[in-house]
Amino acid sequence: MLAPDALQIASHDGHMLAEWPYDQLEEMAAPDNVLRLGRRGNAVLERLEIFDATFADAVDARAIRVDRTGTRQRRQRASVVGWTVAATASLLLVAWFGIPALAERIAPLLPVVVDRKLGDAVDMQMRALLDTGKAGAGFECGSADNEKAGRAALDKIIGRLEASAALPEKLRTYVVRKADANAIALPGGQVYVFRGLIDKADNADEVAGVIAHEIGHVAHRDGTKSVLQAGGLSFLFGMLLGDFVGGGAVVIAAKTVLQSSYTREAESAADAYGAALMNKAGGNVHALAIMLGKIGGATEPGMKILLDHPETKARIAAINRVAGAKSTTAFLDAKEWLALKRICAG
Ligand SMILES: [Zn+2]
Repeated sequence: MLAPDALQIASHDGHMLAEWPYDQLEEMAAPDNVLRLGRRGNAVLERLEIFDATFADAVDARAIRVDRTGTRQRRQRASVVGWTVAATASLLLVAWFGIPALAERIAPLLPVVVDRKLGDAVDMQMRALLDTGKAGAGFECGSADNEKAGRAALDKIIGRLEASAALPEKLRTYVVRKADANAIALPGGQVYVFRGLIDKADNADEVAGVIAHEIGHVAHRDGTKSVLQAGGLSFLFGMLLGDFVGGGAVVIAAKTVLQSSYTREAESAADAYGAALMNKAGGNVHALAIMLGKIGGATEPGMKILLDHPETKARIAAINRVAGAKSTTAFLDAKEWLALKRICAG
């Protein structure tokens, strides 16, 4: 019997045997002319078989999990076919272009959410690799009471850069207790700034300049490209199936982001982006050039320090060339800058 919310099952003499709510009904495999129902989450194996087609249709119309038309099965079959086609297509593309060229071509086409998932998958592994002193939760600066003003100062810099950069996704920036004067950008807009970089900087614009360079890598999706290159096929498939976590690919990818350096072209492009962003945000472009000179061009962990190297000098000159003539506004005032200097004081 069809009650408003449930299917009522009664015996011939009208005695009520059971009441199954429509939203708990599940269709079981059965011959074509039979609707066999079970109750969801029911430990007892109770089955109800309906032979009357009109009545079966009426139940079908009321129960969301019952779908007599078989569209659900068809949909599942279609999605399996879809993945197979996609996987085959990706194999053909790999065979045609090779992994590095493919990563170069695919990365710009990926939805931003894929970048983010990729970054999140690599992030934990990345932290473990960076955190050589095993500080755990204390690895990140800015959360102790005497560090909070520093965190606020950093957020001020990020906010101003972000407003000018207009990235599709919000940046997530962390300062970590690491002595090297470096920074690193993960796919999906996570930027790690090492304490050593802030130590080495003489003003907030120098820190902002390097972060602007890192934002360039985010905007150009360089992290995604190198992860795709390193993870190769396993990442490509993980991407297709929407699952990056698990397997050695994440470990390899995190190591790649940390240890390898970008190409000279990618670095120049990030410099150009960073310089333009500093201009747009009203910051001092020269500060990026000065900082680059101080750290020998090694803006990322995998890069060689090339003090007085022609390559570094060329990069510095290129940055200085795009510096605007207009006056600039410092990213932080003296008090805020002092606070940022003490962001890892706790
Ligand atoms: Zn770089």
